[in-house]
Amino acid sequence: MEIVLQCSLLCPRCGQRSEETMPEDHCLVVYDCPACGARLTPKPPDCCVFCSYGSVPCPPVQRDRRSTCCQPR
Ligand SMILES: [Zn+2]
Repeated sequence: MEIVLQCSLLCPRCGQRSEETMPEDHCLVVYDCPACGARLTPKPPDCCVFCSYGSVPCPPVQRDRRSTCCQPR
């Protein structure tokens, strides 16, 4: 099955879209918008910024078809 690694992140502050390549094996929980410098963190119950602000869910979610990714316990 095809895992999409290219993700378009939408900054909620300035509306900037940034193309990012997602790491395949872990989540990204902090992302700094390159346009306005806003520090993005996941919105609950998401645990990574790609699930909250990206055009596609992160690779762990795509792979396991879960609604949230590697939630820390
Ligand atoms: Zn921004």
